[in-house]
Amino acid sequence: MRITVIGTGYVGLVAGACFADSGNDVICVDTDRMKTEALKRGEIPIYEPGLDQLVRRGLKEGRLRFTTSAAEAVPASDIIFMAVGTPMATGGEPDLTALKSACEDVARAMNGYKVIVNKSTVPIGAHKTVAEWIRALTSHEFDVVANPEFLKEGSALEDFLKPDRVIIGTDKQDVYVQMSELYSPFVRQGNPVIWTDAVSAEITKYACNAFLATRISFMNELAGLCEAVGGDIEEVRRGMSSDDRIGPHFLYAGLGYGGSCFPKDVRALLSTAKGIGAPMEIVTAAEAANARQKQRFISQITGHFGADLSRKTFAVWGLSFKPNTDDVRESPAIAVIQELLKAGASIRAYDPVAVANARTVLGEGPKYCSGSYHALEGSDAVLICTDWNEFRNPDLVRVKRTLKTPVIFDGRNLFHPAQMKELGFKYFSFGR
Ligand code: NAD
Repeated sequence: MRITVIGTGYVGLVAGACFADSGNDVICVDTDRMKTEALKRGEIPIYEPGLDQLVRRGLKEGRLRFTTSAAEAVPASDIIFMAVGTPMATGGEPDLTALKSACEDVARAMNGYKVIVNKSTVPIGAHKTVAEWIRALTSHEFDVVANPEFLKEGSALEDFLKPDRVIIGTDKQDVYVQMSELYSPFVRQGNPVIWTDAVSAEITKYACNAFLATRISFMNELAGLCEAVGGDIEEVRRGMSSDDRIGPHFLYAGLGYGGSCFPKDVRALLSTAKGIGAPMEIVTAAEAANARQKQRFISQITGHFGADLSRKTFAVWGLSFKPNTDDVRESPAIAVIQELLKAGASIRAYDPVAVANARTVLGEGPKYCSGSYHALEGSDAVLICTDWNEFRNPDLVRVKRTLKTPVIFDGRNLFHPAQMKELGFKYFSFGR
């Protein structure tokens, strides 16, 4: 099939590369010139395991192309994927400026019937808004499909190539058939392609993220209970997760959720719910619990060192919102560092891949270190903010020797409290 993907971020670039790899002709459009030029040379602007090989293969075989011009791409395509960012606006609702502009570019470039696919996460009912924007600028026929994306940064390729399910929101059978053919190479193991109406597809995306965010917040509140009554949240989690009805995912207590999706999608859902007068009190509580969790972490630090942190230095391990990505959007690590800098502390930060992105948010506030042990030098404590694999099994004797004082604030519950005590650490974690 002939496909255009508008937006080459974490979603668009992965979708474009995967569709090209399954034999389609794909043109990716992005308004960012530098990014597009880099992609043409096979340079990948984001960190996503395996993506570089896939993009380079697509380029080499001529099935994947990059341009800044929708006018060049759209006439040569039958299906147009919208994968631009929909960040949070000030009121909590998604900012659709990029989507509107992309729709207008597409509409102006249309030369016949097109299937327009909303892969961006959009407010409920946005398939109609998109249709109105396009209709205003073209007399060509088109259909708009709601096809939410569920990939996770860090395992985006695996998720896209073997999705748990594909959701296709359209009331047209022929459009559904065309879309399911496009996805058929990815669901050969029998994972469902779910044909639904566009509104239900849009709601499903928000429902999944809000539900997963709620699981995380539930565990974090439960961790507070464990602390108060002397339980161990890790034991509780093991007991819960072995229940088939509950399962193991998103049950980890820690610093809370972050990233480019959960916080914004939770707020978008709440904003929609408020607008139509349909209460979503569970989701409201999940969001509040998530905000509290970062404060609890800060309280652990000030509880130990006192409110005045002006002569304290902290090593921070991990800046991305989760491992295996360089994305720092709404990363708990960033929020924690900002609080500590405000309290006068010095920060020695380390992340395997996210330093460049962190620098764009935090500037030169922290000192960025070349390795995890380098960050420990001269530090009063280490704060573990992201559960990168390399932090799971460090040389704890070396950690103790390098830190000024042997104090660990573990925002990801990576270690066993008893072992830490034995090694002579003052060890803080959640719910143990
Ligand atoms: P991103 O910010 O990484 O990328 C967006 C890209 O769109 C950028 O490269 C930007 O330059 C480009 N762009 C902006 N306006 C444009 C225009 N008018 N024409 C062409 N390109 C334009 O965003 P992302 O993380 O890939 O997310 C895209 C959408 O997918 C969002 O709605 C997001 O909520 C959703 N989503 C994201 C993830 C994720 O893990 N990142 C997962 C599922 C869904």
